[in-house]
Amino acid sequence: MGYLVKGALDREIPLHTNVNVEELIGDGERVIGVRATRDGETLYIKANRGVVLAVSSYERNASYAKTLGHQLKVESMVMPSINGAHLRLAGPVGGRVARVPDVTLLGFHVPGEEQENGVPLWRGALPFLGLPHTIVVNRAGKRFANEGFYRYIYYATDIIDGNTQTHPNYPCWAILDQQARDKYPFGSLMPGQPMPEALRVSADSLEQLAEKIGVDAAALGGTVERFNGFCETGVDEDFHRGTHPWGALMCGDQSRQPNANLGPLERGPFYAIPLHRLAGGGIAASGLVADQHCQVMGWNDEPIAGLYVAGNSQACLDNGAFMQSGITNARGLTHGYLAGRNAAGKPSDLLQQAIQRLGL
Ligand SMILES: Cc1cc2nc3c(=O)[nH]c(=O)nc-3n(C[C@H](O)[C@H](O)[C@H](O)COP(=O)(O)OP(=O)(O)OC[C@H]3O[C@@H](n4cnc5c(N)ncnc54)[C@H](O)[C@@H]3O)c2cc1C
Repeated sequence: MGYLVKGALDREIPLHTNVNVEELIGDGERVIGVRATRDGETLYIKANRGVVLAVSSYERNASYAKTLGHQLKVESMVMPSINGAHLRLAGPVGGRVARVPDVTLLGFHVPGEEQENGVPLWRGALPFLGLPHTIVVNRAGKRFANEGFYRYIYYATDIIDGNTQTHPNYPCWAILDQQARDKYPFGSLMPGQPMPEALRVSADSLEQLAEKIGVDAAALGGTVERFNGFCETGVDEDFHRGTHPWGALMCGDQSRQPNANLGPLERGPFYAIPLHRLAGGGIAASGLVADQHCQVMGWNDEPIAGLYVAGNSQACLDNGAFMQSGITNARGLTHGYLAGRNAAGKPSDLLQQAIQRLGL
């Protein structure tokens, strides 16, 4: 962001903050500007080359999160302003929408941590779930995924058991022992800092902990015993935790060898933190369909002249119609580059080059 802002300032390009874009303006052939408001005042901004929609996604809009993301709750890590403006803006000019499955994130809210307007600040649990001395269990008291790799555990959380018509792995809890609390942060809670009671359940033994959260004590005890055995050998035979370099680096403890993601749960008190499904962590997948120059496509499969889309406002179709995750900043930067080239009348031929190189 710093480089982008500097680049704009160096070129004397004006930046307007606290502006809410409310409508696209067209002349019947192309998009030529926007109507916006700032402090109750209406602004009309003309766009000679085009308008780039880069207002992120819909994660804070309950109705859109439900119908596009299939998420029933809107707890999210993103700002309240991320509420689907791109869909409202592009709808009247015929912008086409693709629905791509969202990933369900797991998170928690530390009581007292709020964003603007008192909206709770939800924190993603991912960086803490794969740490040593920590596991995630379902209501059967069983681990169900590699906690150190989000593309595994988040999929597993969404699984539906067709026979029982339930989510067998949700609700779920992060279970950790005192060693984890002594060594590692948990969100904003630094090592050794007490965990607010409203955030967790704790007990001196695993049996008591299981009872408090309504999980079968023998099952939880068996799960921990098996996991502790994996910690001795350094090999998670059930879910291969620690085998992804990403997981070892992002949510492992490099001082633990041979496996940065394994460490036994053995020293009380023990803690259970209920994990909440989050509608988003800034990686919502549905959005506006674009061509290779990031021009918004209409339902007639023709690009809408003068309208571009970048970042999370664009449907994530680079993996196919499949769950998306991560690399959103790289994706957004690329979109901005491609849209800018096209709007300047110098469209990028990167796609053609890639097609040629791959012999497609
Ligand atoms: C905790 C966390 C960690 C993350 N880590 C990574 C990471 O490591 N790597 C990575 O690539 N991505 C990461 N992401 C995701 C990444 O931050 C987002 O995907 C990215 O910021 C989205 O960029 P964007 O430009 O699409 O939207 P944003 O950066 O969200 O910007 C959209 C802007 O548009 C404004 N806006 C909305 N509506 C209007 C309107 N009507 N008029 C005017 N303005 C409007 C919003 O206020 C906002 O300022 C992370 C996200 C979170 C929450």
